[in-house]
Amino acid sequence: LGCIIKCSNIYPKEDGTHHVSCLEYESDWAFGANCCIDNLDHIAELIRICNDIGLDTIETGCTLAVAMEGGLIEFGDGKGAINLINEVGKGTPLGRIIGNGTEFTAKALGVSRVPTVKGQSIPAYEPRAVKGIGVVYATSTMGADHTSGYTIAPEILSIGGKEDPLNVEKSKLARAFLDTTALIDSTGYCLFIAFAILDISEGFAGVIDTINGVLGTNLSGDDWVNIGKEIINKERAFNTAAGFTSSHDRVPEFMNIEKLPPHNVTFEVSEEILDSVYKE
Ligand code: SF4
Repeated sequence: LGCIIKCSNIYPKEDGTHHVSCLEYESDWAFGANCCIDNLDHIAELIRICNDIGLDTIETGCTLAVAMEGGLIEFGDGKGAINLINEVGKGTPLGRIIGNGTEFTAKALGVSRVPTVKGQSIPAYEPRAVKGIGVVYATSTMGADHTSGYTIAPEILSIGGKEDPLNVEKSKLARAFLDTTALIDSTGYCLFIAFAILDISEGFAGVIDTINGVLGTNLSGDDWVNIGKEIINKERAFNTAAGFTSSHDRVPEFMNIEKLPPHNVTFEVSEEILDSVYKE
């Protein structure tokens, strides 16, 4: 309400009536390119069912892809995918397997190519093609979350600087995005303000002004980064106490073995680089 970015949309049925809102980019990728489903109506229906029964669309898209890899249905089978997700809503034994997500389904079907970090499914950006976002996925406290540090901005969109996506030296970039994103999230601002403030200094100053105005504080830009760092360090301490180690800060094994066209590269980021993200 009142947001001038207005990023949402309504996807209609053929007769013009409401089908689903919104048909969002990550959801479209998760069920579309990720599962080779090229029928937008099928994708819309998959999103509608997820909204209805409370499933995350990225997680469910990756679960379906693993189910396809495991032979439950063929890649590209939109109607089969809809049937599978409906099983989740009905609570059948198969539905309970699918509803438990990508890692659970992979174990049930014996699939070894599993696109997850810390149990969370990888979104639309490929770590082998865009190394910085891969470092974020690997080291984020909550798993493969593109919204925990959107390095795609400088790596692909040339927003907030320009970074070669295939350069592996991304530990500092990842940490900077993890810290600043943690602060944006803690303020309650929508993360999409990042696009407006990464390249516009008045926008950045304006956000700090609003935080100071609401809280009665006198925070500076440096304070912003330090608070974000503190938030991430606390989350990290929580994970450590819960049993997480550096062995969990890794991309899926197959991404270190299988080359991705057209660059024909594996992830290539060393464990030393991944482990250095939190050493500063
Ligand atoms: S998600 Fe963010 S950018 Fe999109 S409409 Fe809501 S507040 Fe605006």
